[in-house]
Order: sequence, then C-alpha cells, then structure tokens
Amino acid sequence: MQGWTGVFLKVNLTKSEAKPEPYNEDLALNFLGGRGFAIKILWDTLKQGTNPLSPENKLIFVTGPLTGIGLPNSGKLVIASKSPLTGGYGDGNSGSWAAVEIRKAGYDALVIEGKASSPVILHIKDQAVEFLDAKDLWGKNSFEVEDQLRKKYSKLAGIVSIGQAGENLIKFATVVSQKGRAGGRPGMGAVMGSKKLKAIVVEGTQPISLAYPDEMKQLAVDGYKELLTKPLYSFWKRQGTMSTVEWCQENSCLPTFNYRQGVFDKAEGISGFTMEKMKVSNRGCPQCNMTCGNVVKDSEGKDSELDYENVVMLGSNIGLGNLAQVATLNRLADEFGFDAISLGSVIGFAMETSEKGLIPEKIGWGDFEAIKALINDIAYRRGLGAVLAEGVRSAAVTIGEGSSDWAMHVKGLEVSAYDCHIAPGMALAYGTSSIGAHHKDAWIITWEQKAGREKYDEAKVDYLIKTQLLRGGAFEALTVCRFPNGSLGLELEWYHKYLRASTGKSFSLDQLNQTSDRILTLIRAFWVREYGDKWSRDLDVPPMRWFKEPLKVGPLKGAVLDLEKYSAMLDIYYQKRGWNKNGVPTKETLEKLGLADVANQITYG
Ligand code: SF4
Repeated sequence: MQGWTGVFLKVNLTKSEAKPEPYNEDLALNFLGGRGFAIKILWDTLKQGTNPLSPENKLIFVTGPLTGIGLPNSGKLVIASKSPLTGGYGDGNSGSWAAVEIRKAGYDALVIEGKASSPVILHIKDQAVEFLDAKDLWGKNSFEVEDQLRKKYSKLAGIVSIGQAGENLIKFATVVSQKGRAGGRPGMGAVMGSKKLKAIVVEGTQPISLAYPDEMKQLAVDGYKELLTKPLYSFWKRQGTMSTVEWCQENSCLPTFNYRQGVFDKAEGISGFTMEKMKVSNRGCPQCNMTCGNVVKDSEGKDSELDYENVVMLGSNIGLGNLAQVATLNRLADEFGFDAISLGSVIGFAMETSEKGLIPEKIGWGDFEAIKALINDIAYRRGLGAVLAEGVRSAAVTIGEGSSDWAMHVKGLEVSAYDCHIAPGMALAYGTSSIGAHHKDAWIITWEQKAGREKYDEAKVDYLIKTQLLRGGAFEALTVCRFPNGSLGLELEWYHKYLRASTGKSFSLDQLNQTSDRILTLIRAFWVREYGDKWSRDLDVPPMRWFKEPLKVGPLKGAVLDLEKYSAMLDIYYQKRGWNKNGVPTKETLEKLGLADVANQITYG
C-alpha cells in the first residue's frame, strides 16, 4: 500500500501494552481514513450499549492518506469515540503536530482502549512505546501540560493533552493541542480522562511512502501558491472566521441571549474589525499557510486564540460584548479543555433559567465575574456547575420546569453558533449532522441566504446532502481542512490530484461520494444501534425554540421555523439518502454501499 502506512497502533492502557496491527487494503479503499476508519473500528469492535466512560470504549486518533506529507491544510487529526455527551458517534478534528508525527512514526491511527491504574502519558517514538507516570501533571491545565512536555521533548513533537475538564469527566471536554487547537466536541476529552490518559507525545522519524513523490512535491508547492492567488486570501489572513460575526449580525442569525434574538446590540464590540485592532499574531495548524487562529491579549494580558464560534458562544450568546473579556473566557475554556461552543450554550441556558427564577443562583447576562466563577464550578463539578457539566440536555432533565424548551441541542450536542429561526436548510444540517448539532459537516447558511432563506425546498436538501458528502465525508476521511475549498474556493481537482500522487489510485468524484455515503450511513447506523428502541425521527429535529418562539427583535422580528414544512424536508432528505421514514438506512441502501451485514444489527422502526 502506498499513501497509507497500513498499520494501526493498538494500545491497551489496562495492560500497558501496545502493538502495531496491519490492516488490509480493502479498509483503506472503502473508508479512506480519518472519520471513515474511526466509524468502521467503532462499529466492528464496540458492543452495543458500551458505557462511553468505561475501559471498553475506544479512543481513536486517526489520520488520512494526505496527512503529514507537507500539503496545504493537511495537518489535521480526527479524534473519535462513542460520545459520553450524546450516547452516539462522536468525533472532532484538530490541527496538531500529533497528526503529522503519528504518520511519521509509521501509523495511520492510534486505537486506545482500557484504563490505566494511575495517570499516564503515552510516549510513542516510532516502534518504541512507553507508558510514563503522569501524576505530577494530573490537575494541571492543558497549557501547563504542553509547556512541561515541550521542555522534555523535541520542538516538533506531536502533543495532545486534556485539562481538568477531561480529568473530571465533563461531558463536553475536548482534547487540546498547541494551546488552543481543541478537538472532539462531544466529550472526547472526558473519554481520555476516563482512561487516566493525561497526554500523548508522538515523535516519528520515518518517511511516508508515496506513489508519486516527485509529483507530490510539486503539487504541494503549487497548492500553497494557488491559495495565495485566491481573492479572499488576504482578508482571511486578517480575520479568519471572525468576519462571520458581522455577517450573522446583518442577517439575524447571531446567537444572542441563548438563541432568542439573532442580533446583538453590542455586536461591534466582538466583531472581526474589533479583533483586528487587538490582534498580536496568527496561529494555525501544521503545514497551513491560511493560519486562521487570531491571537489577542485578553483582559488579563494573556494570549487567547479566537475564532468565530468561540467568540460568539462566549460573547453574544451570554450577553457579553467586551472582546477582551470574551478572550479571557475563551482562554479558560482552552486551558481547562472545555468545548467553548457547548460551554457558551450551558452558560446561556443557566442564565435564562436564572432569569426565570427557576434556580437560586443569580447569573446575569454578560456578568463577567459570575461567568468566570461558573466556569470554574463546571470544571470542578461544584453546585450548579455539576449539573451543567453533564451538558444542556441532561441539565434540563435535572432542573425540569419546562427548561428543555430553552436547552439548545440536537441529540445531546449543543447547537453551534448559527441561529436558525429563519434558516430551515441550516436547521436541517444541524438536525442530520453526524455528531449532533454541529456545523462542520454542512455550513450552508451563507448559501441559503442567497438561495432564499424562507424556502423549504428540494434544492436545499440537494445542496445539504452534497455538502455533507464533501465536508462531513470526504474531507473528514482525508482529514484535511474544509476552509481552502469552503472559504477561499480552492477547486476540488486539487484533492483528486493529491490523492492520486499519495496513493497511486484515481478516485473519481462519484467514487469519493459513494465512500462518503458509506461512512455517513455507517455513522447513522451506529446511532440507531446505540439508541435502540429510543431511536426516533424526532431526534433529527432541532430545538423547539426555533419553531415556537419567534425572533423578538431585529429586521427579521417575528421569524420562526415551520415544523410541518421542516418535517416534509426531512422526508425528502431521508428518501434521497435511502433511509426509511424513521431515518434508518434501508437494507437496500446498506447493500448498495457494501454494508449488508449492518442491517442485522439495527432495528427498523
Ligand atoms: S485554515 Fe485554519 S483550521 Fe484550516 S488548517 Fe489552516 S489554521 Fe487550521
């Protein structure tokens, strides 16, 4: 095999054992890598009903056939597991030198199971694997861990770690790399904490075998140059994703006061242009020349790396319009190892619940000091913090009093930063995303704005599926960043050329789409298998707030989603995906995708 190493490193923390395990080419050709490998491993090896925080769950760090080669935007790692937050499939991608080093160490993935008897660091240097005592790092935040390990290992070592959120099994804890690049929204950090795995350090020294190395070298040079020619390149370098604040404010989809308003009277204070005045540097993932992490000094004079989602969820969504303060909350989230989107959502939920007088705690909108204290309480599971640490779906069940009406999630994953009161296509993207309410698979809201936001039509479903197959399927399996294509317009031909030079195989667009369909369908089957008789199409419906409570202010005041029309769109979506009326892949679809054996393990409702 070329392009793939053909080897996974299987690690058992209970036994302190690690062994390389070759896999066959069929797996590579049918599932590509990244998310594709992750779901195949989880499907094949996890028993239905496995407790996500038990030693039996697998934590997978997985790369793709373009990782580590020195190509633009390819220093990405998919981190996957059964999610303790949602109970379904969970993953996230993170830019990290660990991605590059795993490949150079001779592996395509680390598959970790078991539980260490005391805190441990996994150190991998090519074939040598050590299980090192991490007692002195337990209790430290992810920045401190990175600093301490950097002193010991080489400058380019791949390091991923968890902060206190992962240690304390906070259900939306992430895995953190490079002081600000976090991955694994649905609690991948908690899974790592449950295994007492504080950090992984990877160092590789081996070349990656490529089908056409000279061609690849030239493609890499040309690819970097091509990005520089894109008209939006220089503005992207200035603001990265932060320009979305203005766009969302103008289009009434900025999450504000727990998704009630769509516009925020202090939006300018957290905008991309305000950020530009504070910016001290750019940071990015390995091997990227689009470096979209905007580093600013926060209100405590420390570096904080900002992007749109984090700023909005810890800003307008909780009523805070001071970017330096938002940056402090963002840094705290990265240090503790919280997913900042979910953190902003549970805080917004707590504020609204407090405003309604349903909990004794007083947490006012935008109250910076109260928010900081609450973040600490969540990290250490104190008082209300312990309730919120379980995620917003669970918190609403604990608090009751109808609070599920303002718990903003899909399948237990908190909604990321787009208000969908008048965006049925984006709402459907959230409803049908692979991990719960996340935008990564299909960020279609800017397209939808141009296509007519009020429409509930087949064209939107077609565009959604096309985007999911590309971004949620192909890009997540190749583990490349979605922004070159999605935000700068880098043509898809580049990826076909990269893939051919790496693997020697030519994948047509149809083949890639079918592979993506296979991956996303198997992910859907995993959800159905795990939820069993609790599975229902209602799980593909976004929060009721968007259907029942019209926008209260702004130019689109009064806008609200229509449940009947949404449901009709969902039917079209299911039919086009080859899923039944309950959102379960049919036997014919599974057979067509080479997944015939899957049908025996899921229930058809
Ligand atoms: S564009 Fe941003 S997210 Fe994508 S690879 Fe570069 S730094 Fe990472």
